[in-house]
Amino acid sequence: MSIQKPKGTQDLLPGEIEKWQYVESKARELCQRFNYREIRTPVFEHTELFQRGVGETTDIVEKEMYTFLDKGDRSISLRPEGTAGVVRSYVENKLYGEPDVSKLYYVGPMFRYEQPQSGRYRQFHQFGIEAIGSVDPSLDAEVIALGYTFYREIGIKDVTVEINSVGNPSVRAAYREHIQQFFAPVKDQLCKDCQSRYERNPMRILDCKIDQKYCEGAPTIVEHLDEECRTHFARVQQYLTALGVPFRLNPRLVRGLDYYTHTAFEYKAAGIGAIDTIGGGGRYNGLVGQIGGQDQPGVGLALGMERILLVLQAQGADIPAEKPLDVYLIGLGEAAETRIVGLLHELRLEGLTAEKDYQSRKLKAQMKSADRYKAAYVGILGDNELEKGEIAVKALATGEQETLSLSEFARTLAARQRG
Ligand code: ATP
Ligand code: MG
Repeated sequence: MSIQKPKGTQDLLPGEIEKWQYVESKARELCQRFNYREIRTPVFEHTELFQRGVGETTDIVEKEMYTFLDKGDRSISLRPEGTAGVVRSYVENKLYGEPDVSKLYYVGPMFRYEQPQSGRYRQFHQFGIEAIGSVDPSLDAEVIALGYTFYREIGIKDVTVEINSVGNPSVRAAYREHIQQFFAPVKDQLCKDCQSRYERNPMRILDCKIDQKYCEGAPTIVEHLDEECRTHFARVQQYLTALGVPFRLNPRLVRGLDYYTHTAFEYKAAGIGAIDTIGGGGRYNGLVGQIGGQDQPGVGLALGMERILLVLQAQGADIPAEKPLDVYLIGLGEAAETRIVGLLHELRLEGLTAEKDYQSRKLKAQMKSADRYKAAYVGILGDNELEKGEIAVKALATGEQETLSLSEFARTLAARQRG
């Protein structure tokens, strides 16, 4: 039996990969403008990092991690998200010693053991940013604006930004009591997960997909914010307005990771069905300290690449596809075939995309390949031309034919394609 890819994974083939490259290059270019620099951390880390960083009572750590013992009996996990690894690296490499705020971005695969469905995979990809070293609410707004700008610039329409404040630890401790009191009468009707959340992390019940009916009228955390949290949240909103980022307050928004403080936000898109959250993030003022560093506040976001591509497709966005070939070369006869190998290389060194046949096919089949590649020019070299030091050139779009000297061929076409 042939071997198939593991459940929940995807092969990104030529034809599709160009869309990924487009979206990724847009991400990199945008990060440069906002002065975020790339960081690459391992795709696996010590399991303890995620237990401490993401939180033991989160769905991600409780149910979704790919965890295994390596040959040295160390517990290792494939990263389910990007922030913990970036913060670990920030601490380990003492980036806090640098005078400026560390503004970092990453693009790469994440792994979660989830039930696969449209927009949900076991290996998926995120583009994320982290800004560590400041409590300034303008940084929260900048992060939210970067995500919003990104969606807009790659051509996604109708992105909704939802924001909330999840307070600080002391606000959360007080809120915990209120929320437990609220759910106490229906505690036994809640789903099994929420019954355990009730004891361990009751705020997360609000995020449950099954128990929404019991959440109606639940006390919100915004009603319980203290002065510091209220001020921070108000400032974030002022800055977002200044940045022209439209947003909606969602007092029910609690994110699936434990490390958030103050600002929490999500981006939603229309047209991809029930799983409509395409990205999210928030501020994490306690995380760096928790992971073992000098306490430093941070704020970040993570956007799901697969869902971005789903939305682009659903909305019929115009994504640049495969690049056409500049030149397809055909050699007729042994001597000519030998000569076009060198000629092909010359074209490539001149910066053109160029191809030839490798299967000894007839002229007609080779012409078809040139069409499939949407080549701008086909160069045909026969014994006659070779003798005269020339090559026949056809522009496929117009059908126009001409003869160029072999020694000028590569340079002439390069000049035209550049022009
Ligand atoms: P969801 O509620 O959809 O499970 P989440 O809260 O678990 O999302 P985050 O941890 O906030 O998601 O990750 C940020 C983004 O990464 C999500 O908004 C989504 O676009 C993407 N994402 C998360 N999990 C998956 C997955 N299993 N497959 C594909 N994309 C995912
Ligand atoms: Mg999830």
